[in-house]
Amino acid sequence: MLKINELSFVLVFALVVIIACGNTDTTASQISSMSARSHTDSIPASALVSKDYLLGKFNPAQHADFVSVGAPYSDKPGMMLRKEAFEAFKKMWDSAKSAGVSLKIISATRNFEQQKAIWEGKWDRFAMDAPKPKDRALKILEYSSMPGSSRHHWGTDMDLNDLNNASFEPGGKYEKMYQWLANHAHEFGFCQPYTAGRPHGYHEEKWHWTYTPLSKPFLAQYKKSIQNGDIKGFLGSNLAEEIGAIQNYVLGINQNCAE
Ligand SMILES: [Zn+2]
Repeated sequence: MLKINELSFVLVFALVVIIACGNTDTTASQISSMSARSHTDSIPASALVSKDYLLGKFNPAQHADFVSVGAPYSDKPGMMLRKEAFEAFKKMWDSAKSAGVSLKIISATRNFEQQKAIWEGKWDRFAMDAPKPKDRALKILEYSSMPGSSRHHWGTDMDLNDLNNASFEPGGKYEKMYQWLANHAHEFGFCQPYTAGRPHGYHEEKWHWTYTPLSKPFLAQYKKSIQNGDIKGFLGSNLAEEIGAIQNYVLGINQNCAE
């Protein structure tokens, strides 16, 4: 049995250990929350996402923040978007309609596996024209992203009406539509990330539009937490670093859509 002074020593020692551990925990959690804050300072909690999310490694059909896009906004089944992006799109769709412009979503969210199917399909088809892997990757990258680096992973981006720039240019069947989007899309939070005349990245895409209230914070998180080495798991992925998949393609967008 412990004597009184031994017992009090044990109690005091235990108390010191508890306080010390408590302090250590508090300090560690304060530091980690401070550094978390400094990285995500201006990003609302609703726009914080995981690394897997940014890389498209999830199933949008099982994600609570995604909704299905049906008629009259799209003719294709299975299209999904982030709720906020779709709500904003519906408002833009109504406004465009009253101006005589008919917007149709022809592609929306595509996860890593869907992008991998697109990329590897082109990898095979371009093999004759571009036998060298780097040439082939650069050819695909004119219009298609490496899986893990596509804005279509995020549920914020969509392709509208047609995948041909000429259709949106003077004399094209969507000339009026493009002019309307160029003048009004920003009023609803939308921006064209792949404009003409950028120094790096994908060719111009007049059909691709992004909902920036979400895609800007997603891009900021991508820039901080993803490296070229994270872009992997498909044919030619070893070229991500050499090609500068993140620097030139993910970040090589119209800067109005980036900050
Ligand atoms: Zn697109």
